[in-house]
Amino acid sequence: MNQNTHIEVFKPEPFWTVQISAGGITATSRRFQGRENAEELLQQCKEEGNVMIKTVEIKEKAERPPLLYDLTSLQRDANRILGFTAQQTLDYCQSLYEKKLITYPRTDSRYLTEDMQHTIPDLAYGAATQYGLQEGRFRSEPIRKDAIFDSSKVTDHYAIIPTKSISDSDGITLSSAEKAILQLIAVRLLCVMQEDYRYTETGIKMSCGREEFSWKGKNVLQYGWKQIWNSFYPEKKRDEEHIDAIPSEDMILDIDSAELNEGRTSPPKHFTEDMLLSAMETAGAEDMPEDAERKGLGTPATRAGIIEKLIQRGYIERKGEKKTKYLMATDKGNALIAVMPEQIKSPSMTAEWEQKLLQIERGEYEPKDFMDGIKGMITNLVMTSKQEKGVETLMNRNKVIGICPHCGAEVLEKQKGWFCSNHECRFILWKDNAYFAKIGKRITPEIVEKLLTDKEVSMKGCKNQKTGKTYDADLLLSTEADGRPQFAMKFPDRKEGGGKWQK
Ligand SMILES: [Zn+2]
Repeated sequence: MNQNTHIEVFKPEPFWTVQISAGGITATSRRFQGRENAEELLQQCKEEGNVMIKTVEIKEKAERPPLLYDLTSLQRDANRILGFTAQQTLDYCQSLYEKKLITYPRTDSRYLTEDMQHTIPDLAYGAATQYGLQEGRFRSEPIRKDAIFDSSKVTDHYAIIPTKSISDSDGITLSSAEKAILQLIAVRLLCVMQEDYRYTETGIKMSCGREEFSWKGKNVLQYGWKQIWNSFYPEKKRDEEHIDAIPSEDMILDIDSAELNEGRTSPPKHFTEDMLLSAMETAGAEDMPEDAERKGLGTPATRAGIIEKLIQRGYIERKGEKKTKYLMATDKGNALIAVMPEQIKSPSMTAEWEQKLLQIERGEYEPKDFMDGIKGMITNLVMTSKQEKGVETLMNRNKVIGICPHCGAEVLEKQKGWFCSNHECRFILWKDNAYFAKIGKRITPEIVEKLLTDKEVSMKGCKNQKTGKTYDADLLLSTEADGRPQFAMKFPDRKEGGGKWQK
């Protein structure tokens, strides 16, 4: 899961390849670390002037329509295509559900029950008309019924589909985000009815100058469901190369051109929310029994919340351009991972717990045994875990500096100021402090410590910003009803009782 470190230490390496064009295709050599080797090959190819076709491999492939959406697969597509976070998608779904336009969204099933078979064609037809598909350009009856209707794969709820109301949804006020989600769900329902996407994949290997060159291409035989999907969500990928006349083995072809290409190796990619949701869904799956019903981290209904919580607590952050946001571990997140015992980090532990909870639900496992197991594990962890070296410095990025004068919780030093650790409490002393600026002073950790223990601190050499006069004063700290700090000033050398108070 922790991709950051690995990406950060990655150093792009240059490499060179030779590309030759012959018979209408452009084939590429292997990568060379040194430029000279690639140049030598280029020279050889130019001298030889032709290539020999060694192998031609043609494979026919078919891609079935994707299954209907459960919440996680919808959140993934909405993140990839629309740039929504998992939480946003869940919220929009909830709203669409309340407006009776989609079925219950917190589901982990991607199937419908068999008794729905008779209503679905009408529903699909209604959705197609709603989104302007032309009659005859789509099927509203599924080709493969078992890819849609399977009661054994429906648990508490079935897959997310539009409701009949979609046909007259024009009268219902929807935000543009809600419209986008509704469309995604409706288009998916339509795609499920269509034929497979079928194509051939051609791999050609040719030789020249002791080296092998390869080319891969694709010829589409039938667009099937992709016809509809791509008309709504065009793929960004560049067009696959295709070829009209496929050469046969042992053929010798003249080289039309040969050239050198320089490239750089690229680091592994950061997680997008789409990728993270997928990783959460399958995390630890390899350690789980095959028939385990609950695999991965969290459930469809809780995954969005888990990601948001990690962001709120500052363990991960969203970074990146408009639509494509990457989730990256913060220093605090990396520190936490570094100090946590291995056992707790393992997704298989969570998956194992989920599995046992499910067994309890079915009456196959005793709650007491489960709790005893957890107690034993925790006791064991506490006894055996040693505090790792450097933990203090790693975790002390948020050093405790004192106790909150408002609520008594710890006050932590963070990058921008000293914050009360109680999230309900608004006590904050900003490092870039306006009040201190007004009196010509800077707030320091020593001042904060003193203020937190004594609720006052004496300041020498304060400067009136208007008159330029300097003076000494005692600063008094109090808090407002919500915990926000309030300063007042007392002048020890004046005998006017409470002194002059200013906010
Ligand atoms: Zn507080």
